[in-house]
Amino acid sequence: MDRRDALVETFMEAVTARNDGQDEFLQAVEEVAEDVLTVEKANSGFAEARVLERLTEPDRMIQFRVVWEDDEGRTRINRGWRVQMSNAIGPYKGGLRFHPSVTPSVLKFLAFEQCFKNALTGLPLGGAKGGSDFDPSDCSEAEIMRFSQAFMAELAPHIGPDLDVPAGDINVGQREIGWLFGAYKRQKGVFHGALTGKGPAFGGSVMRTEATGYGLVYFVDCMMAAQDRALEGARVAISGKGNVSTHAADKVIDRGGIVVTLSDTSGTLHAPDGFSRDAVAWVRERKAAGEDIAEPPRDYGLTWHDGALPWGFEADVALPCATQNEMDEDAAKMVVDSGVTLLAEGANMPLTAKAIAVLDKAGIVQAPGKAANAGGVAVSGLEMSQNAHGRFLDADQVDKALHGIMADIHATVTSEAGTGETPDYRRGANVAGYRHLARAISSFGI
Ligand code: GLU
Repeated sequence: MDRRDALVETFMEAVTARNDGQDEFLQAVEEVAEDVLTVEKANSGFAEARVLERLTEPDRMIQFRVVWEDDEGRTRINRGWRVQMSNAIGPYKGGLRFHPSVTPSVLKFLAFEQCFKNALTGLPLGGAKGGSDFDPSDCSEAEIMRFSQAFMAELAPHIGPDLDVPAGDINVGQREIGWLFGAYKRQKGVFHGALTGKGPAFGGSVMRTEATGYGLVYFVDCMMAAQDRALEGARVAISGKGNVSTHAADKVIDRGGIVVTLSDTSGTLHAPDGFSRDAVAWVRERKAAGEDIAEPPRDYGLTWHDGALPWGFEADVALPCATQNEMDEDAAKMVVDSGVTLLAEGANMPLTAKAIAVLDKAGIVQAPGKAANAGGVAVSGLEMSQNAHGRFLDADQVDKALHGIMADIHATVTSEAGTGETPDYRRGANVAGYRHLARAISSFGI
């Protein structure tokens, strides 16, 4: 064991003792600790403030009961949470996720990652995450609305434009944000930009819905340019069928790339000649309607592979955009075999530690979600400043700003990405995000 490993080992023992069994959270912390503890040790101010250890303890974690009525008039009960991880550099900021897989461990890993991601955007945004174990997939629209309203009845006292500004995440899109915002407004009696991802008719930013997927592709543009390559003509395998996946697919098509796969948990749609825009729109509509994607219209040139992962087809670029730990060691081996040389994460922590090791060994350049998918929260940050100033940007202005932010993140990350043959984007993102947070936290005293 070298000195660096011993440092990580001791640190992780302490964090594990306080968070035993919270596997996703410990995975996210360990990945960061491996890169930043040596940086912390080298700076006496950061070390004295124990910045990373502080960042592993949320400022506070709110848990609440959500009681709502289903269409049969039965009382239903779910759990809701908001993890306010750190407001060192701005009000708490991060999405809300409604999914049965939501647990305190998942939300803590997401809130922890969000601190670093938000720091990388260069905007004044702290880190948070929230959500519920509520499963909207079996619910009617009216039920999802009633659940969202009941959820906000509990959350509203804890948020506000200078305090904590939630947005969407998995299963929480513009429709749900509208219901949540309506409930917030009624309860507080004020019109405050306390949520982002709102509809443009009531204070939302144009392009917020598209921003995560578009920003991901802008980041890939930068990665490819750094290798004297471009997306034009490149085959791109994408996992997922939601907001991030389908908007990334649209932008890849704009760039002249060939989108070869989109997927869900039951299988993969493969398009050897590439998805058309219409085919992507069809996937998006099916997902929005809660329908599966197994039977695409014939003229789209798609084939459905039941139970298959999206990585088993020839490709040059992989964009995992579904959910955490979607790619394990075996899936990573498929990625290597598919011919992929570059991967960028649209989802948060989509690769297990073993999957990362497989790709590292194969020399595949990888951008972590905290850098590559920061476009969504970046446009949320623009929405907050538009709300504060009462002046709105048009689509060209937002697109230009998003471009600029993603290019700046790329430059910041590569400046800390080491001197190896290929840039270590994971280390670059961890170290650059950490330095920003540490400069703030170590200024506040003990
Ligand atoms: N849920 C998104 C993320 O993972 C966006 C959060 C936000 O806009 O606050 O970054």
